[in-house]
Amino acid sequence: MLASEIVQNVKRKQISPSEITEEYLRRVEKHNPRLRAFLRVNPRAAEEAGEVQARVSSGEDLPLAGVPVALKDNLCTQGLETTCASKILETFVPPYSATVVDRLCKAGAIVLGKTNLDEFAMGSSTEHSAFGPTKNPWDLTRVPGGSSGGSAAAVAADLASVALGSDTGGSVRQPASFCGVYGFKPTYGRVSRYGLVAFASSLDQIGPFSRSIQDLALLMDVIGGFDPRDSTSLEAAPRFREALREKQAGLTIGIVKESMEAGNTRGVVAALENFRLTLAKEHVRFVEVSIPSLQYALAAYYLVATSEASSNLARYDGTLFGLRVKGEDTTDTMRKTREAGFGPEVKRRILMGTFALSSGYYDAYYGKALKARSKLKADFEHAFAQADLLLTPTSPFPAFKLGDKLNDPLSMYLSDIDTVAINLAGLPALSIPAGFEDGLPVGVQLIGRPLHDERIFSLAKLFEDASSGQFLRVAQG
Ligand code: GLN
Repeated sequence: MLASEIVQNVKRKQISPSEITEEYLRRVEKHNPRLRAFLRVNPRAAEEAGEVQARVSSGEDLPLAGVPVALKDNLCTQGLETTCASKILETFVPPYSATVVDRLCKAGAIVLGKTNLDEFAMGSSTEHSAFGPTKNPWDLTRVPGGSSGGSAAAVAADLASVALGSDTGGSVRQPASFCGVYGFKPTYGRVSRYGLVAFASSLDQIGPFSRSIQDLALLMDVIGGFDPRDSTSLEAAPRFREALREKQAGLTIGIVKESMEAGNTRGVVAALENFRLTLAKEHVRFVEVSIPSLQYALAAYYLVATSEASSNLARYDGTLFGLRVKGEDTTDTMRKTREAGFGPEVKRRILMGTFALSSGYYDAYYGKALKARSKLKADFEHAFAQADLLLTPTSPFPAFKLGDKLNDPLSMYLSDIDTVAINLAGLPALSIPAGFEDGLPVGVQLIGRPLHDERIFSLAKLFEDASSGQFLRVAQG
């Protein structure tokens, strides 16, 4: 069910939060063994629904009353395991909840459970989970995308009304595209990262998944806004629902030339074309723009992200959190713990990042990547002088087969070609369900200037209305 419908029905007393939660728990029990979208269900979900019911009965006006939400398992939940799909955190129970989780609960949402991901959010297919891959509900032989594949699959199959993920280089948008749902990466700093397990701190942002733009706006209005506990948090108050009511006339969308040139499958090309034609009828203007430095984005991203990860993951040393494999001395304990606790992709990234930061190579790799990052930002600014928003594919292709790229890290990294630049530049971007290719969903990506998040939503609403929501279906996998 859509979150907006649930909230309305709860308000009109047509259904209670407990009934909704029970229904969703039944759906999860039935479909999750096949999909593995959830790593675990919240054992307190029914109890929490009862508490929300009591608050509704006492007259509280809750913007998310009774909405069952799924959380990526790198968002800290007090008293509920948070594993990052890693053996090293398999037994970790956080003593506090992430700011976004607190805000959701305060708004009346019910935490249904924690969803699968690539270990520590490193990957594009959810196959790097230490607990087995999630399957794409549109085709069980395919990946749901990653790293927030569990959250995307859960919303696509309606095992949760809405969900949260995290996006460091595309991990909300790419799985959203593969699963046929909306996935949004806000301007860096608009959603608090407090309680999000860090991967690459200068790139990480939490973002929502939904099956309607209204629901996405509902979520953003709840989770967004300043948080004193995150030093990079911005003051800008979220006004997403308001933005959906505003008519956007005379806007210009820039089609990013470099992302259209080669390699997109026919379904992706068709979805972009249909998006353009649909909005052109609504008096949106399209122009071509160029981001020449886009060709360096992938290389720069994998240097910056791995460098930051190598520093962030140093805290898992067998002394503070989770797993400890006892060795002969402290160093041996650290070595054995990391050897047993981290999967191959995480090890590869720590090695790569440590190498890029080492004194002899710092200027050649990390320093160069930072220069490319500045250049990208400048190129985007230049493009935004000619257009209000930018359009690219979310991914050059729809969901690929399980196992297809697992043993070829480079080809896996290449599936992020359209998303990573956005994180390097700190911009907001939304993946919009916009087509199908051989029964598989295809998304397109709308990008905004920093803090123009709401404007992206207005345009997405225009497209959703003009196309009568025809790309928003529940997957029956
Ligand atoms: N797929 C990208 C990576 O592997 C992005 C991950 C993410 O956004 N968390 O790094």
